[in-house]
Amino acid sequence: MYMRRKTRSVKVGNLEIGGNAPISVQSMTNTETKNISDTVSQIKRMEKEGCELVRVAIPDLESCYSLPLIKKVINIPLVADIHYDYKLALKSIECGVDGLRINPGNIGNNEKIKLVIKSAKKINLPIRFGINSGSLDKNILKKYKKVTPQALVESAVNIIKILDELDYHNIIFSIKSTNIINTIEANNIFSSKYDYPLHLGITEAGPPFQGIIKSSVGIGALLFQGIGDTIRVSLTGDPVEEIKVGYEILKALHLRQRGPDLISCPTCGRCKVDLSKIVRKVERQIRNINKPLTIAIMGCMVNGPGEAKEADIGVAFDKEKGILFKKGKIIAKSSDKIIIRRLLEEIKSE
Ligand code: SF4
Repeated sequence: MYMRRKTRSVKVGNLEIGGNAPISVQSMTNTETKNISDTVSQIKRMEKEGCELVRVAIPDLESCYSLPLIKKVINIPLVADIHYDYKLALKSIECGVDGLRINPGNIGNNEKIKLVIKSAKKINLPIRFGINSGSLDKNILKKYKKVTPQALVESAVNIIKILDELDYHNIIFSIKSTNIINTIEANNIFSSKYDYPLHLGITEAGPPFQGIIKSSVGIGALLFQGIGDTIRVSLTGDPVEEIKVGYEILKALHLRQRGPDLISCPTCGRCKVDLSKIVRKVERQIRNINKPLTIAIMGCMVNGPGEAKEADIGVAFDKEKGILFKKGKIIAKSSDKIIIRRLLEEIKSE
């Protein structure tokens, strides 16, 4: 039975992460942050798809100065992603960002990490510490000889010691590896000991086809165990796609529903219509619908009526004729073209 592990609640801008908050979906822009118009336009597209927090890369001072201008025109919390230079983290705080993401493995040393934490603490700014297989602390790597779940967790524990010393806990952790098994094990170990909210992701998951599979398996396995408070799917491509995939993962596990859930059969020799063409058409037409609906499109009478009845709206084909169901009742019978038109009308009227 699904039981979400209890974590403390952290507020990033107006978004609550952890505690009893719904598992949020976030992403990161791939524009140059100093190119404000491209960055804002990408964030607006991400917002439209349901993105609830956005991270931007801060490789230089100019990017820091873009933060207040970007923040002014977007509607979701803005997080600065910092690598190597702790001064950029301090400057991003000054520039009014809603949160920081830093990677302790590449920020230099504990003194620099402490300076960032102390500065964030003054205004209760949340920080996500990203423990990443690609940039693990050199001493930890030396001790474990390779990236292991224990090595990843030890890197997080070192940060927790600093947080305890500075008495600052407005923190989210992420423990990511390109190795899915390591990611799952490390997050399991961490969440059995600590109640910091967890950001889940499979790092550098690859191009869309591979990346969607790896992310669904890795993130999905952890969510199913009740672990994870916010997710980011990493794909090489348009970040808007990451948001869509994130919601599909949550939808598949019945953790959140945004937009229709489309059920369709794979077809077989019993199907007498071009179901794949029909499904593609319906998929295109429902792209901008955010209502949580279950829609079934089934190729024949074997499983068709059962699935179509269970769905909010469904069609089951009986040879070339379609039978349309709404809330379990037959409301029309007609040829494929007419029935699909009716199906779309019914979906839009919901
Ligand atoms: S519903 Fe019918 S057409 Fe679709 S896969 Fe099952 S048996 Fe084949």
